Amino acid sequence: MLDKILADLEGTSTTLVAVSKTKPSSAISELYQKGQRIFGENRVQELTQKYEELPKDIEWHMIGHLQRNKVKYIAPFVSLIHSVESIRLLEEIDKEGKKNDRTIPILLQFKIAKEDSKFGMQVEDIKKYLLSEEFESRKNVEIKGVMGMATFTDDHETVREEFKTLKGIFDILQEEVFRENPSFREISMGMSGDYKIAVEEGSTMVRIGSLLFGKRNYG
Ligand SMILES: *Cc1c(COP(=O)(O)O)cnc(C)c1O
Repeated sequence: MLDKILADLEGTSTTLVAVSKTKPSSAISELYQKGQRIFGENRVQELTQKYEELPKDIEWHMIGHLQRNKVKYIAPFVSLIHSVESIRLLEEIDKEGKKNDRTIPILLQFKIAKEDSKFGMQVEDIKKYLLSEEFESRKNVEIKGVMGMATFTDDHETVREEFKTLKGIFDILQEEVFRENPSFREISMGMSGDYKIAVEEGSTMVRIGSLLFGKRNYG
């Protein structure tokens, strides 16, 4: 399945994040041996444990809801945090970045689905913050782009509209906040069921779990 997904992504500028949550390190090793280096997890404890067990050239992405008091456990090594859904969380990541003497790459998560359970920021609030002096002093986070999750549905038009919404938010922030900054370039959208639509709508990172690893029992 890895080969098929990579073939689908060939010729696009979309990167595969293999979502290995709930799967054992042995399953990750299997894909690692085939050349996959980027893995996504959604629980801090699982992420740190796998980081310790597996090769150090893996890029670990945090894709799930992150509590502020747990940022410290992943701050030393995490490659990208997709799920930054509040300014308070961003500031905590900055603080932990400073403690670890590094700049932590992050994505801003926006609510694009109509379901209540999904987390996310409000565009106007974050825009105001990013243009403030307060944000200018946050040197230990680097905002690489945006992330969102579409509604879990077979209705492709709904999903496509939601991805277009995220692309629209990206465009607004790129134009009005980040301007010529080339580091702001990622749009993390698309999962097992909808990644082809996401790629068509401009995704630069798809987060694929069950299609690669098989069904999960939880998570
Ligand atoms: C679990 C998860 C995925 C992967 O979902 P699949 O449907 O298994 O591909 C992607 N993004 C987030 C945020 C997740 O929690």
